[in-house]
Amino acid sequence: MNARYSPLRLQITWPLSYNPAPNLNQFRRSIVLDAYREHVAERASLGIPPKPLNAEQVAGLIELLKAPPAGEDAFLLDLISNRVPPGVDEAAYVKAGFLSAIAKSEESCDLISAQHAVELLGKMLGGYNIEAMVGLLTDDALGATAAQQLKHTLLMFDAFHDVEQLARSGNSNAEAVMQSWADGEWFTDSPAVAESIKVAVFKVTGETNTDDLSPAPDAWSRPDIPLHAQAMYKMTRDGLEPEEHGVRGPMAQVAKVQAQGLPVAFVGDVVGTGSSRKSATNSVLWFFGDDLEGVPNKKGGGICIGGKVAPIFYNTMEDAGALVFEAPVDDLGMGDVIEIRPYDGKILSESGDVISEFELKSDVLLDEVRAGGRINLIIGRGLTTRARESLGLPASELFRKPDVPAASDKGFTLAQKMVGRACGIDGVRAGTYCEPRMTTVGSQDTTGPMTRDELKDLACLGFSADLTMQSFCHTAAYPKPVDIDTQHSLPDFIMTRGGVSLRPGDGIIHSWLNRMLLPDTVGTGGDSHTRFPMGISFPAGSGLVAFAAATGVMPLDMPESVLVRFKGTMQPGITLRDLVHAIPYYAIQEGLLTVDKKGKKNIFSGRVLEIEGLSDLTAEQAFELSDASAERSAAGCTIALSEDSVTEYLRSNVVLLRSMIADGYGDSRTLERRARKMEEWLADPQLMKADADAEYAAVIEIDLAEVTEPIVCAPNDPDDARLLSEVAGDKVDEVFIGSCMTNIGHFRAAGKLLEQHKGGISTRMWIVPPTKMDEHQLMEEGYYNIFGAAGARTEMPGCSLCMGNQARVAPNSTVLSTSTRNFPNRLGDGANVYLTSAELASVGAILGRLPTPEEYQSYAENLQSMSAEIYRYLNFDQIAEFQKSAEDGARIAAIEIQEVSA
Ligand code: SF4
Repeated sequence: MNARYSPLRLQITWPLSYNPAPNLNQFRRSIVLDAYREHVAERASLGIPPKPLNAEQVAGLIELLKAPPAGEDAFLLDLISNRVPPGVDEAAYVKAGFLSAIAKSEESCDLISAQHAVELLGKMLGGYNIEAMVGLLTDDALGATAAQQLKHTLLMFDAFHDVEQLARSGNSNAEAVMQSWADGEWFTDSPAVAESIKVAVFKVTGETNTDDLSPAPDAWSRPDIPLHAQAMYKMTRDGLEPEEHGVRGPMAQVAKVQAQGLPVAFVGDVVGTGSSRKSATNSVLWFFGDDLEGVPNKKGGGICIGGKVAPIFYNTMEDAGALVFEAPVDDLGMGDVIEIRPYDGKILSESGDVISEFELKSDVLLDEVRAGGRINLIIGRGLTTRARESLGLPASELFRKPDVPAASDKGFTLAQKMVGRACGIDGVRAGTYCEPRMTTVGSQDTTGPMTRDELKDLACLGFSADLTMQSFCHTAAYPKPVDIDTQHSLPDFIMTRGGVSLRPGDGIIHSWLNRMLLPDTVGTGGDSHTRFPMGISFPAGSGLVAFAAATGVMPLDMPESVLVRFKGTMQPGITLRDLVHAIPYYAIQEGLLTVDKKGKKNIFSGRVLEIEGLSDLTAEQAFELSDASAERSAAGCTIALSEDSVTEYLRSNVVLLRSMIADGYGDSRTLERRARKMEEWLADPQLMKADADAEYAAVIEIDLAEVTEPIVCAPNDPDDARLLSEVAGDKVDEVFIGSCMTNIGHFRAAGKLLEQHKGGISTRMWIVPPTKMDEHQLMEEGYYNIFGAAGARTEMPGCSLCMGNQARVAPNSTVLSTSTRNFPNRLGDGANVYLTSAELASVGAILGRLPTPEEYQSYAENLQSMSAEIYRYLNFDQIAEFQKSAEDGARIAAIEIQEVSA
């Protein structure tokens, strides 16, 4: 574990020692309790528990605990025991201060003895409780209790050394803790996964994408897990009847299955496709998971079975401690009672017939379930290893070991080399478990609050990943009050931990994060489109992203790779977006991908998509290809770029980062550190290359000479790639040009086409540049005037329509969109969305229908002669304004920043 990650050592003092006059005190008590009970009743009317207590409420609660109103003892004790978030939440800070004051006899409370205070401290998981607990090991009366609690505390980090030191000095309580960690009692005291598990089935047919589980328009409520879960499956679909279509999910059906009195397995044909939403897992587990001791309003564990389980969803379930596996589910129906035999790989019907067979992805999953999740297991195993090393014991044999792939003398793919370097070796073979160093981590605003909560649970007060960046692109344009709160509070949370925070209106996470990347390095992000155009990213749910940011490493089972090799010359009128869609189109032709969900084939699913043959693309162009690897359900993506392309990008990005310092962005040390690392690369540019004899699960060759007409993805499936000639003539109501799939060239192309049209357009057209720099440049060049004259609607840089959580297209409209994905209902209720290039979308906007290939080419020809002007990318090192600002930034860095090293 990286040494930079250490919970802040706070001397906890109890701050609330005021003694108001008795009457005033009484009055305050009734206000605190009345207000809280009102909140409880309001939430109960929605069928959900009250929110966890915040710091202010805990402070009020403590005053009540010190002088409890008659008849409220049990209620108050329950609140302090079970309703305060653990870790480094501010409320946990207040609670830990009070309990440690009681344990140290600095405070007294009739309801909580010193012994009980230590027990309650011990259930706070880590963070603010640790210092007091370790200190109490030397207490004659309470030391044994503190030791008992610490034996099961995993989030020790640097405080491990304090316990070790005490043990070495002969403290018997500390010795007992060290021995317990070495023996893995934190693990063995939990029951192993049962040989036979009887469950009721909650079955959902067809494909469940993460938007079904955690709808984008409800993104604002994601951190409030019980409330957000009410929106799961809120749209009517085969076999599910929402309580209120579009508002509240199928609660009666959930309750009916729960009423069978058995644990409930969540079962689907295809489960968890789409984004990396931890909130999707949270919602499923809220209904079908197990309570977590000491953690209010969140559940873990559970069982999830899918005919196909999308890789990121699998990992997020794994992190939460779920027993998750793929198995044929045709014979499992809603409400069925089944028996799962995890060790035999069998599912039996109630009458004892084998109805499905399966293999766990890895037996390590059984340990993960027992430990309460993959993250717990990793942290706990690390603690056991450290304790055994300290005690001079051999390595533990307690835990299952991941399979090691057969030795091979073949070469490595580009992804295997990049991950290898991040692990300190030449390459990592597919199937190997590893923990690569995370150089860059991204977080966006609809997952950011959950990542923040996970960071608090992990007791993180400083990032170990070299650069962690937070954006505000998903909520900037149409914020709800809760989004405004996030926009106000999250930047400080990120920057005080050494991260970089963008501002609302700056633009889309990826368009910025890409500009902070170092070549051939590895990272992650809490947005499924965190797909680096250079280096490689493995996007993840918020829990894993928090873990990666906090510890600087991430658990990874190295996936296999699929190579897509382009050859030949691009044909006139064909855009990069068409090549993006050519990948599923060719995979369908070769039988490697099917559109039908039943028995779906997808060669890319869970694998790394590696792209060769387009090395002269700019990094902005390359991102169009890597971004769309999310739609392929790929685990990650690499693109072989030329040294010239990377050099051009990094030169520009050094200037951008320094100009950010001049503009007051923080954390300035992190920005400067990254700029210097880019300069180091530029001084000695070297890029990794795949070995010629590297092994791939499949190789798809695409001859550019054969791609002679645009390729679109038809409503409403990003896999349903079709030639324009197959869909020409379909009417168009709305057009969206925006999202992280776009760059400045797309907007210039749209502008030129609209300008030639000379007149208004009949369709509703949305124009949303990805960043404020693109917007500014387009304004300077007069494009906004063209958009305005055509009647297009321009919006603040950001995600806009793409996620569907802000503005939406009209219900049931037909839309041409440059966005990433066209899942049902994502852009608008019942909307039919074609994914297309910006160029084709603009022609569709003008004509009000999808053109024929010939019509399209007649428009495209006009762009050809202007292509040098249109497809000119933003090179900040060539823009005077940015050069000047970067010089200021460099001066600030030189004067104010003494220490920028990791
Ligand atoms: S533009 Fe769309 S795909 Fe890209 S980050 Fe925003 S919501 Fe996600």
